Amino acid sequence: MDKIRMNVPLVEMDGDEMTRILWQMIKDELIVPFVDLKTEYYDLGLAHRDETDDQVTADAAHAIKKYGVGVKCATITPNAARVEEYGLKKMWPSPNGTIRAILDGTVFRAPIMVNGIEPYVKTWKAPITLARHAYGDVYKAVEIRVPGPGKVELTYVPEEGEPETLTVFDYAGAGIAQGMHNTDASITNFARCCFNYALGTKQDLWFATKDTISKKYDHTFKDIFAEIYENEYRAAFEEAGITYFYTLIDDAVARVIRSEGGFIWACKNYDGDVMSDLVATAFGSLAMMTSVLVSPEGFYEYEAAHGTVQRHYYQYLEGKQTSTNPIATIFAWTGAFRKRGELDEIPELAAYADALEKAVIDTVESGAMTKDLASITTLPGARTLTSAEFIGEIRSRLEQALG
Ligand code: NAP
Ligand code: MG
Repeated sequence: MDKIRMNVPLVEMDGDEMTRILWQMIKDELIVPFVDLKTEYYDLGLAHRDETDDQVTADAAHAIKKYGVGVKCATITPNAARVEEYGLKKMWPSPNGTIRAILDGTVFRAPIMVNGIEPYVKTWKAPITLARHAYGDVYKAVEIRVPGPGKVELTYVPEEGEPETLTVFDYAGAGIAQGMHNTDASITNFARCCFNYALGTKQDLWFATKDTISKKYDHTFKDIFAEIYENEYRAAFEEAGITYFYTLIDDAVARVIRSEGGFIWACKNYDGDVMSDLVATAFGSLAMMTSVLVSPEGFYEYEAAHGTVQRHYYQYLEGKQTSTNPIATIFAWTGAFRKRGELDEIPELAAYADALEKAVIDTVESGAMTKDLASITTLPGARTLTSAEFIGEIRSRLEQALG
C-alpha cells in the first residue's frame, strides 16, 4: 500500500507521562504505517521545557502561526510538587495558557459519541459543541473584602477628560465587592471564532448571556455578536443553511436539555467553564471529548481535553500494562490531519482521518474498549483491553478499511 502523502508539516507538540506513551504508540501503530508523516516536532515534555526555559512552548505556538495546524499531547502544568519531582528551575506557566495567549483563541469541545456509551440526557442524539470564551470576566477580576461600614466606588479615568465614578454600594457593615472587565477586541475575536467554526462545521450557533440584568456588561456581548453577524456572516449562514440564535442564559439551559444536540453553544468564560464540565459528564467521559483551539486568524490547535493521566503513568513505570483510553488523543491527530487535508487539498488525508475515527468507533461498538468505558457501557459482554491491545484492534480494522 502506498502511504498517503503530506505537503505541509503538522506542528507536533509532544507531552508528558501516560499521554506521551500513548502518543508514541498511536504514531507507531496508527499513523506511520499509513501516512508519509511530515511534522515539525516540538518536545513540550516538562524536562525539555525546563531545559529551554520554556522557549520551546513559545516556539511551538509561533510554528502554528507559520503552518496553520498543530496537534498537542497533554502536558503537565507544574505545581510545587512537580518542581520538586522534576528538579525544575522554576514553576513554568501552563503551556496551554502560553499557546492561547500567542494564538488568542476560543476553545471548542465536543463529545465523541458511540453506541453503548449513552448520554444521561435521553433526547441528545448528536454532539453539543461548547465554545468557551477564554479571556477576562471573573478570571481577571479584582476583589475586595470590605471590613466594615464605608463605600465602594467604581471609577473610570480616561486618558483625556473627566473621570466617571459610580457607587457600587454603601456598606452599613462588612461585605464583599468585585470588579471585572472584558474588551471589545477580545469579544470581537470570540464572536468571529464562533461564527467561523459554525460555518466550518455547518452547525447552528447558539449564544446566551444575562443581558436583561447586566444591561451594559452582558448586553455588550450580545450587541457585538449581533453586529458582527449582520455585517459579516448573515449571508454566509443563510447560504450554508444554518442559523445564529441568541437567547437568555436561563432559556438556553432549558432548551439545551430538551434539544437533540447537533449545535454549537457559545458561552461567556464562566458559563463555559461550568457548562463544559456539565456537558462532558452528561455525554459520558472526559476521555471521549475532542478539543480544538481556533484562533481568529484561522490557526488550529488540536488536543485531548484530559490531562496526562499521572496515576496510570506510575503504574506503567512499575512495568504494568495500563488500560488508558487513547481515543481523545487519536481524535486530536485525526482533527489535525483532516484540517491539513482540507487546507492542502489532499482528500486522501481527510479520508484517512475519517477511516481512523470510524475504526475507533467500530472497535468500541464491537465491545472492545478500555477500562474507563467498560465501567459505564450499556453493551453486554464488553471486553476490557489494555491500551496496546485496544490500539492493536483499531489497527486491524484500519488496515481492512484502507485495503
Ligand atoms: P487527568 O490526567 O485528566 O486524569 C484524572 C483522572 O481521570 C485519571 O486519574 C483517570 O482516572 C481519569 N482519566 C483521564 N483521562 C483518562 C484516559 N485517557 N483514560 C482513562 N482514564 C482517564 O487529570 P489530573 O490527574 O488532574 O492531571 C494530571 C496532569 O495533567 C497534571 O499535571 C495536569 O497539570 C495535567 N493536565 C494537562 C492538561 C492538558 O495538557 N490539556 C489538562 C488537564 C490536566 P482513574 O485514575 O480513576 O483511572
Ligand atoms: Mg471547569
